[in-house]
Amino acid sequence: MEISTLESWIGKKQPNGEKKPVVIAGPCSAETPEQLLSTCQALTDSGIDILRAGIWKPRTRPNSFEGVGEVGLQWFQEVKKEVGLPSATEVANAQHVELALKYGVDVLWIGARSTVNPFTVQEIADALKGVDIPVIVKNPINPDLSLWLGGIERIAGAGITKLAALHRGFSSFEKTKYRNVPMWQIAIELKSLLPNLPIFCDPSHIGGSRDLILPLAQRALDLNYDGLMIETHINPDKAWSDASQQVTPMRLNEILSELRIKRPTTEDPEFNTHLDDLRHKIDMIDREILEILATRMSLVEKIGDYKKENNVTVFQVDRWIKVFQTRPEWGKKMNLDSDFTAQLFKLIHDESIKIQASR
Ligand code: PEP
Ligand code: MN
Repeated sequence: MEISTLESWIGKKQPNGEKKPVVIAGPCSAETPEQLLSTCQALTDSGIDILRAGIWKPRTRPNSFEGVGEVGLQWFQEVKKEVGLPSATEVANAQHVELALKYGVDVLWIGARSTVNPFTVQEIADALKGVDIPVIVKNPINPDLSLWLGGIERIAGAGITKLAALHRGFSSFEKTKYRNVPMWQIAIELKSLLPNLPIFCDPSHIGGSRDLILPLAQRALDLNYDGLMIETHINPDKAWSDASQQVTPMRLNEILSELRIKRPTTEDPEFNTHLDDLRHKIDMIDREILEILATRMSLVEKIGDYKKENNVTVFQVDRWIKVFQTRPEWGKKMNLDSDFTAQLFKLIHDESIKIQASR
């Protein structure tokens, strides 16, 4: 897959050794010409790279604001000229692509509700054949890495090389503090499959609330993401969509200045020697963990044989409950996160059942 560098489409060189995130900001939706212009004007001092505004809004339930449509592209065109920054919007079908291109939108993104549907992504890809425009593919709403990858492959298949992924979190049935649970490991996995693909984070849609934007954006930078998309509105409380997660341009400035930008690597020999030393210790501990696990599993084999000889079932619910009560408690006393310990022992227990059942 041919992937152009982010610099090639942002037109910005990174200062030496630094990795300043590329920032896309603007309202969730274009609402009125005044709202769009005043928001984008206020963003000119923030050092952002690209303006965003949704023109067609995919809403979960009908009868809510579904975007202003084509007229918003005219406003966006004028605002862009006035402010002097490139613009980005979401496209969800071939007609959106055609109109966005007609009005000179500079960057397109594919929303989470479109990435889930290969028919939709293919329709967008077909409409993009022969066009040279950057396209950002948001993750699908469900935690399915192949679907995300498939969406990127379909757009690449249309000849688009200015590609990026955007991590906006995943829907879940369980209520959590996030609007969309981040599941960072899925984005990390994507990065390991496509190391040259720039990746953005959308802390607004992951968090669903203003307070979570800074810590989520910081996490993304700590994971070496290339950019951020942050919903910004001149009067967030009055926004027609996603009011609780939008920030004022002033707050955006604060967030951007509070972010700690770190270097992905350093040439400093002292640092690297010390890091190697710590990593060597971790390697040894990982071996010990595996040796202990192997010893545990050989005991599991013995238990499996013993149960079989005595015609006793592999699974006993009382034992399961006890394991799941005690381990997180023991871990907590050792400063280990209870959820982490519970998940770890779920994996160990699953394996143990599998081993016993195969005896
Ligand atoms: C948006 O960016 O406004 C949007 C609708 O995002 P998502 O597709 O991530 O829900
Ligand atoms: Mn939104």
